Amino acid sequence: MKLPDRARFDTICIHAGQTPDPSTGAIITPIYQTSTYVQDALGVHKGYEYARTQNPTRSAFEANIAAMENGKAGFGFASGMAATSAVMTLLKSGDHVVVTDNTYGGTYRLFEQVLRRYQLDFTYADTSQLGEIERALRPTTKLLFLETPTNPMLRLTDLESACMIAHAHGIPVVVDNTFASPYVQRPIDFGADLVVHSTTKFLNGHSDSVGGVVVATRDDHIEWLRFVQNAQGAIIGPMDAWLVLRGTKTLPIRMERHNANAQALAEFLASHPKVTAVHYPGLPSHPQHALAKAQMRGFGGLIAFEMGSLERARIVLNNLQLMALAESLGGVETLISHPASMTHASVPPERRRQIGIGDDMIRVSVGIENLDDLREDLEQALERV
Ligand SMILES: *Cc1c(COP(=O)(O)O)cnc(C)c1O
Repeated sequence: MKLPDRARFDTICIHAGQTPDPSTGAIITPIYQTSTYVQDALGVHKGYEYARTQNPTRSAFEANIAAMENGKAGFGFASGMAATSAVMTLLKSGDHVVVTDNTYGGTYRLFEQVLRRYQLDFTYADTSQLGEIERALRPTTKLLFLETPTNPMLRLTDLESACMIAHAHGIPVVVDNTFASPYVQRPIDFGADLVVHSTTKFLNGHSDSVGGVVVATRDDHIEWLRFVQNAQGAIIGPMDAWLVLRGTKTLPIRMERHNANAQALAEFLASHPKVTAVHYPGLPSHPQHALAKAQMRGFGGLIAFEMGSLERARIVLNNLQLMALAESLGGVETLISHPASMTHASVPPERRRQIGIGDDMIRVSVGIENLDDLREDLEQALERV
């Protein structure tokens, strides 16, 4: 079994990084649940010495996702936040970072409450406006940190243009690609230097693992990240790496269904008289629909909609039967959440209003259940409003 040199995305998802197990021929990379490796003689070993440094299941996971993102190397971490933390060690005190405003709440917390203590400085800019990126740059800016689409407003950043602006100033670009997944968008193809993921979401896809990954393209970044992964030690364990490998095999067919279900439900909600607004890049009413068509393959599995008041939103949230009220996203099962009191509760109300997150907003991570069942669930809950 050999992966063709010009294999397509779906084939890469299934095969990249995975060769039959050399000792048995097992087609699936085993869960190497070991802490150490016996050496043949003093100074003679098979390339594996200690499992923080090397683990074959983790190596397969890293090579698999690096290939999916069209990067040079991947590094597995214990969570998406551990992956982002590792990327930030590329910086030194005094450095400044421009960040997509309304970035993931955990990222904001890491930057503001942890990394500021190490004299890193952050400016949150509306990166959907390219001029705002330019305006936020300083002589000390050493990184552009992008997230597109954002949560829960589903605002997009033009990746190719943003990368051109940053690179013109010698600034590397990192993209948190968790919301889209590499099926929907591959930032490295648009010029990004680094991609981070919470593999907890679409890549694993089955709501049964927490993990993260950094995919890098530049040799200096690769060398440093390999060093830091071992030095800090926030590695993904073999069981979680294996679960994600199982997940990525079906990413393309899952994303096709996430895309199709979300598009249909967004259209249904947009035409419903009790819904006051729908945010979804696949709707022609989305302010960046044209960019979405150019930059994304399908429009992803996340929808946000507004009900006009907290009371009306509460009725919908409390009456949905099939859709589960829970944080997180990207699993096969549909999850609904209330950003103002759940994912964005720590954002001050004033700031929430600025970004556009009202108390009446509901976010849906659309799963891959039967579309009619999902639509009927929304219909009956909206009926009660
Ligand atoms: C969930 C998430 C993270 C954090 O990932 P964890 O695995 O929970 O640490 C980062 N970015 C985005 C966009 C996310 O959705």
